[in-house]
Amino acid sequence: MSITLNRRAFLASTTGFIALHPFSAHAATNQAHLRIMETTDLHVHVFPYDYYADRPRDTVGLARTASLINDIRDEATNSLLIDNGDFLQGNPMGDYIAYERGMKDGDTHPVIQAMNTLGFDASTLGNHEFNYGLDFLMKSLAGANFPVVNANIALEMGSDPTKDKTLIPPYVILDHKVTDGAGVEHDIKVGLIGFVPPQVMGWDRRHLEGNVQARDIVETAKAYLPQIKEAGADIIVALSHSGIGSADASDGMENASVPLAGLDGIDAILTGHSHLVFPSPDYADFAGVDVDAGTLMGTPACMGGFWGSHMGLIDLLIEKDGNAWRVVSAETEARPISVRNEDRSVSALVESDEAVLASVQVEHDETLAYVRRAVGKTDAPLHSYFALVADDPSVQIVSIAQLWYIEQMMKGTEHEGLPILSAAAPFKAGGRGGPEYFTDVPMGDVAIKNVSDLYLYPNTARAVRVTGQQVKDWLERSAGIFNQVAPGAQDVVLLNPDFPSYNFDVIDGVTYQIDLSQPSKYDAKGVLLDASASRIVDLSYNGAPLDLAAEFIVATNNYRAGGGGNFPGATPETTVFEGPDTNRDVIVRYIVEQGTISPRADSNWSFKPMEGTTVLFDTGPAATAYLDQVDADIEQAGDGPDGFARFRISL
Ligand code: MN
Ligand code: MG
Repeated sequence: MSITLNRRAFLASTTGFIALHPFSAHAATNQAHLRIMETTDLHVHVFPYDYYADRPRDTVGLARTASLINDIRDEATNSLLIDNGDFLQGNPMGDYIAYERGMKDGDTHPVIQAMNTLGFDASTLGNHEFNYGLDFLMKSLAGANFPVVNANIALEMGSDPTKDKTLIPPYVILDHKVTDGAGVEHDIKVGLIGFVPPQVMGWDRRHLEGNVQARDIVETAKAYLPQIKEAGADIIVALSHSGIGSADASDGMENASVPLAGLDGIDAILTGHSHLVFPSPDYADFAGVDVDAGTLMGTPACMGGFWGSHMGLIDLLIEKDGNAWRVVSAETEARPISVRNEDRSVSALVESDEAVLASVQVEHDETLAYVRRAVGKTDAPLHSYFALVADDPSVQIVSIAQLWYIEQMMKGTEHEGLPILSAAAPFKAGGRGGPEYFTDVPMGDVAIKNVSDLYLYPNTARAVRVTGQQVKDWLERSAGIFNQVAPGAQDVVLLNPDFPSYNFDVIDGVTYQIDLSQPSKYDAKGVLLDASASRIVDLSYNGAPLDLAAEFIVATNNYRAGGGGNFPGATPETTVFEGPDTNRDVIVRYIVEQGTISPRADSNWSFKPMEGTTVLFDTGPAATAYLDQVDADIEQAGDGPDGFARFRISL
C-alpha cells in the first residue's frame, strides 16, 4: 500500500495540485508523517440520499467522504483509513438488509462492500452493530477485507480483561510501512484497540443477554495496553466508539474517551458515538479537553461527525529513537463534506466517488423499492388534521411505539414496575408550515417513507422518572397552546399562533380534560405565569385520580428530556434512560413486528365541556374527509386565511 500512496504523494507534490501536509513536506531523516483518517457513525449512509424523505441529500454519505479521502491521502506520504463503528444500522438500507434481504453466508453487507472498495485498514464496533443480533453481525463482519477489533465485549470473561474470550479480536497490530523525510522506508507496527459503551448490554438486551458480557472501557484498556506494547506496537491508536464526556473515570461510563485518552501508551484516539465533531467549539468547556490543540488529556483526538458528514484527521509526526518510534508533534482536524450557507441552505463541497456508489448501486436501488413498498398495514388512517383539538391517530401511534420500546428497556432496571406513560406531540400540524403541512397516511399499506411523516425529526428515545405533580405540570405546559375562552363566548380563536405544535405533548397512559376557561399556568416558552392556575382537570391513572406524589416513567425524546420546550419534569436530571435508537426506528420496528397496526386514538384527553361556548380553529382543507371520525362536536365554518379551512367546535 505504501508504494502506491507514496507515488501518489510524489506525483501530487511534483504536479502541485495537492499541497503536502507540512509533516510530510518537512519530515527529517528518521522522521515520518503518519496520517490517520477516521470515519465514524456512518450508519449505513453510503449514497448521499435521505431514504426517509426519498430524496438526495448533500450532507451525508460515505461516497462523499470518499472524495475527501483521495485528496487527504495525497497530502500525506503515509496514511491509515479507519472506521470507528456504528456502520451496520441507522438508515433504511440497514433495515432492508436486516429485515428483508438478510445476510446469507457469503453475502457482503453493502456498507462493508463500500468500505472494502475504499481500502479501509481497520474498524471497530459501535453499539449499533448489535442491533440486529450477533449472528447478523458476525456474518456482516465476515465480508470485511480489513480487521475489526473490540476489546470489551466477551463471550466468556476471564480473571482479567486480557484473559477474556472476546467476541472478536480485541486488538490488531498492523504491519505498516512509512517513508521518512529522506525517502527511506521503515517498517512500523501500529496497534489498534477498540471499545464500545458497555451500555449495549441494556440497549440490546434481547440479543446480548446470556450470550456476551461487557466490560468497562478504561479498565479494559489498562489491562491490554502493556500487552500491545509487549507485542511490538510502535504506535497505539484507541478506536473509542465512545463520546467525549467527563474527565473522571467512573465504572461503566458511556462516554469514556477523555479518561481513556489519559492512559499511558495511547498515542492517538478516535472518538465517536455522540454524532458531534472534534475538534470543535462544542467541547470548549470540557475538562481535559484542548479544542485548539485538538487533544484529550494531551493525546491527539478527533471525532468525524456522523453519516459521513466529516472526515476526522490525526496527523502524527513520528520519529525513530533507537528502535522505538515516538510522536514528536501532532495536529488534528475534522474536514466536512458540505457547508451551511448564511441563508441556511447547504452546499456540497465534494462530489460522490463513483466507485463507491457503484459498489452499492444494487442495494441502493433495492432500498428505494423497500422504502416505497408497504412494510405493514394500518387499519385506520394516520392523519394529524385534528391533532391539536382532539386525541389523534398520528400522535397515538408514536405514543404506542414509544411505550412498547420503553417497556422493554425498563426490564431488569431499578425502574421496572413503575407505571410507564408516553409523551408525543404532532410535528406536522399546519401552522407556519401551511395548509398542506399535515401527516396524512391513508388506511392500508404503510411504507417506511411514511414513517418520516409520522416522526419528522431524527430524535432519539428517552425516558424520564417524574412525579404525578410533574406529569400534571407537563400537561399544563402543553395546554398553554390554547387561548383562554370565557364561558358562553362564541367563535373564539382557539390556538395561540406563537406556540409550536411540537411543544403540544399529549401524554398517553393517563386521562384528562383541559379546562379552557382557566388561564394558562405557563406561557408559550414555558415560563411560569401563575403557579395557582390549572387547566388540567380530572387527571386520572387507571381510572382513579392521579396521585401527585406517585412516580412515573415517561417515554419521550432527547429534545424534550434535554430541556427542550422547558417542560416541568423533563430534564437531564430526571432522565433515567438514554436510548441509542431514534424514535423513528422505534416506530419502524414496531410496525414491522406488529404487521398490522391499529392507531386509533383512545380519546384519553378532551376539552372540558362548556355549554353554549364555541371556538374556531384552522386546519388543512383535506381534514373535511375525516370530520366524522373526530371525537368532538365539530363543523365546517368556511375558509381560513392562506388556504386553510376553518372549523367550529362546540365545547
Ligand atoms: Mn452512532
Ligand atoms: Mg391517546
